[in-house]
Amino acid sequence: MAETIYDVAIIGGGPAGYTAAIRAGQYGLKVALIEKEPKLGGTCLHVGCIPTKALLFNAEIYDHLKHAEEYGIEGLGKGKVNWKTVLDRKNQIITKHVKGLDFLMRKNKVTVIPGYGKLTGPAKDGVHSIEVSSGKGKAETVKAKNVVLATGSDAKMLPGVEAGPNVLTNIEILSLNEIPKSLVIIGAGAVGVEFGSIFRSYDAEISIVEFLPRLVPAEDEDVSKELARVFKKRGIDINVGAKVEKVETSKSGVKVTFTASDGKQVVKEAEKVLVAVGRAPRTEGIGLEKTKIKPDRGFIKVNEFMQTDEPGVYAIGDIVAGLPQLAHVGAMAGMVIAAKIAGKYARPIKRNRIPGCTYTEPQIGSVGLTEAQAKEKGYQVKVGKFPFSANSKASIVGSHEGFIKVVADGKYGEILGVHIIGPQATELIAEAVTALELEATVEEMMFTIHAHPTLAEALLDGFGSVEGLAINI
Ligand SMILES: Cc1cc2nc3c(=O)[nH]c(=O)nc-3n(C[C@H](O)[C@H](O)[C@H](O)COP(=O)(O)OP(=O)(O)OC[C@H]3O[C@@H](n4cnc5c(N)ncnc54)[C@H](O)[C@@H]3O)c2cc1C
Repeated sequence: MAETIYDVAIIGGGPAGYTAAIRAGQYGLKVALIEKEPKLGGTCLHVGCIPTKALLFNAEIYDHLKHAEEYGIEGLGKGKVNWKTVLDRKNQIITKHVKGLDFLMRKNKVTVIPGYGKLTGPAKDGVHSIEVSSGKGKAETVKAKNVVLATGSDAKMLPGVEAGPNVLTNIEILSLNEIPKSLVIIGAGAVGVEFGSIFRSYDAEISIVEFLPRLVPAEDEDVSKELARVFKKRGIDINVGAKVEKVETSKSGVKVTFTASDGKQVVKEAEKVLVAVGRAPRTEGIGLEKTKIKPDRGFIKVNEFMQTDEPGVYAIGDIVAGLPQLAHVGAMAGMVIAAKIAGKYARPIKRNRIPGCTYTEPQIGSVGLTEAQAKEKGYQVKVGKFPFSANSKASIVGSHEGFIKVVADGKYGEILGVHIIGPQATELIAEAVTALELEATVEEMMFTIHAHPTLAEALLDGFGSVEGLAINI
């Protein structure tokens, strides 16, 4: 039988890799997807986006039930969390979506090849060879005209600290046998604050320790301030501008020593510590040294169509330099390369059109430039801010914290950024992404009808507030 030469072989079956595979299959390309784990889905499906959001949803319901009497529901008593059921539900969601991915691979005629994929060097006569070892017998060689690297990332650790029963990363914390009574979280990016929000809802004592001067440092400063205000109100202990010196473990727990922002040494003891200090790209051991690709601190440089320095080799997802490590960024990059390889219309990812979502209580959704970034870029910045306390639907759903902040260009009225903290912020941001994508102006959005009563109406008022014309305040 003639040897199979795939149009494209993808190494890594996370959201970047499987999306690329599906789209390439839809275009009629012959696709191989190489995955080292027994199940497709990557970090996102197994130990990232999906399980955390499942736990956050349970936490949200629990928070609502704590106030059941306010909503006229009596007789529920104090209530008790059955952690095993919470974890079982999370696992069922993962299993359902793993099956969904297997179905999509069959539907789009993607050949899934189990094993560890490694480049063997540049293409010969336009064909690349990838060595795939499955641990069973001899490694096989997969041949393809194009190769896509989508190997993802791992949790970073602090120097000298190792994950264990009491020192957790995103992996261990998602399968704890019990809810910890106390938890120190090192790192206040999206992962750190989301776990803080989940376990605070389940009544754990939470301390957050962050090196930078504010929570969610990538967000607009006003959003960070609001999150800190609400977290403090929820009883979360916040330590920003703090440098962790030591993490010590004992049988019963952990001791985290850090230098606080005032220079004083502080020791926090807790049952567990979560290390959430960022994600390191998985680019070692995949044969890059045999190619022209020279990683920068592990990250791979690509051009606007995700092409690396090695002809015919693309990189997408968490391993890419200069793009945020988010599932939807990897997935869109997968769609871009599939179109490029298939010779279809492909549009590069625009850095300023990427929504960032943090699913804490309150939620955060943002897109585009922060106020500080817009000023730095020399725009004549105009800002509007509208609080959810003045939105009728927010009163109905009993969620009044937060605001919508719109950053616009004063000269032409173009919307440069939208920053939302409050109820359903992660859903509301979709409208703002579309507005930015279509280069909408404040005026155009002010005359766009938003249904009443909705949380989305707060966006209408947010746009109006740029011109001092919000209706409800
Ligand atoms: C706790 C947590 C919560 C998160 N929440 C969100 C969220 O809500 N929204 C969001 O957008 N992002 C979220 N993220 C980030 C998101 O999970 C990642 O951006 C996303 O998974 C990256 O996709 P990827 O395909 O690049 O890599 P991965 O998902 O890491 O997948 C890579 C795949 O490649 C496989 N692989 C690696 N090397 C090889 C090899 N040599 N051969 C074969 N297979 C290989 C791996 O086994 C894995 O299956 C979260 C992350 C964490 C840790």
